[in-house]
Amino acid sequence: MKCRVCREPAVVDVRRHNAAFCREHFLHHCEEQVRRAIDAHGMLLPNDRVLVAVSGGKDSLALWDILRRLGYDADGLYLGLGIGGYSGESREYAHAFADARGLRLLEIDLDDDYGYDVPRAASATHRAPCGACGLSKRHLFNRAALVHGYDVVATGHNLDDEAAVLLGNVLRWDVAYLGRQYPVLPGTDGFVKKVKPLVRLGERETAAYCVLMRIDYQVEECPMAEGNRHLGYKEVLNALEDRSPGAKAAFLFGFLERGHERFAGAADDEREALGPCAVCGSPTTGEVCAFCRLRERVGVELVRQDGAR
Ligand code: SF4
Ligand SMILES: [Zn+2]
Ligand SMILES: [Zn+2]
Repeated sequence: MKCRVCREPAVVDVRRHNAAFCREHFLHHCEEQVRRAIDAHGMLLPNDRVLVAVSGGKDSLALWDILRRLGYDADGLYLGLGIGGYSGESREYAHAFADARGLRLLEIDLDDDYGYDVPRAASATHRAPCGACGLSKRHLFNRAALVHGYDVVATGHNLDDEAAVLLGNVLRWDVAYLGRQYPVLPGTDGFVKKVKPLVRLGERETAAYCVLMRIDYQVEECPMAEGNRHLGYKEVLNALEDRSPGAKAAFLFGFLERGHERFAGAADDEREALGPCAVCGSPTTGEVCAFCRLRERVGVELVRQDGAR
């Protein structure tokens, strides 16, 4: 196996591109895919202040590293979810990465700062933990970016993640979700712009990037992921990809190029119906936003902010 670019021995193959690369050209390939995603979707301006959602896993650390190498002003935000030893360990990986490179890592702890954690939220809502967890992440990353003056929130969702989410949305024909599924969501009143610059890289590539860059990341999967529907969708897509390399990328990019616009109206309608949450002031379609309702269900006493409706 030889590098597609320089013909030296290759260390990684990317079947989707029918190509293999040596270390140097693989790292360049990863940067190039991120740069292309940013350009194609107008994700970032050169002087944007970017807040990277950092979990300590391969995707978020690779993303943070690549954005810095591409010259972006990118800080990190780590959110402590309170998932036992898993969260403690992920926090250590996030801090070790930031400390070794002298980067700024903000931190929020669900329990210390908001009075609940993911396991308690899951048992109070009698639902799978990922629902409460995802809701908390979306709310708090947005909030932190607004409070600290960041222009954009960047998350480490990769090609495999996005293809799995798309499969789930298509299986349910969830038109509002399909309308919102795009690698860039523009900022609106109360919402900071959100981008997914890893959308052109598979998880095998982000893992290889970290290994080749000697980035230590948390390999252990979240213990609460069991039953997460996306894992099943990923298995299905991996089986397809095995038979016909490139199927996953064709599914996702075909949707982004030719399918998404057909559903964009559903997301616009939803955006127009937004007003401020009566408790925290965040945009919501109801009187109280989903994040505040979640905290209420877990038994946190809510304090209404001045200025909120
Ligand atoms: S697997 Fe679910 S609970 Fe665990 S971090 Fe991811 S979203 Fe949260
Ligand atoms: Zn090479
Ligand atoms: Zn609220």
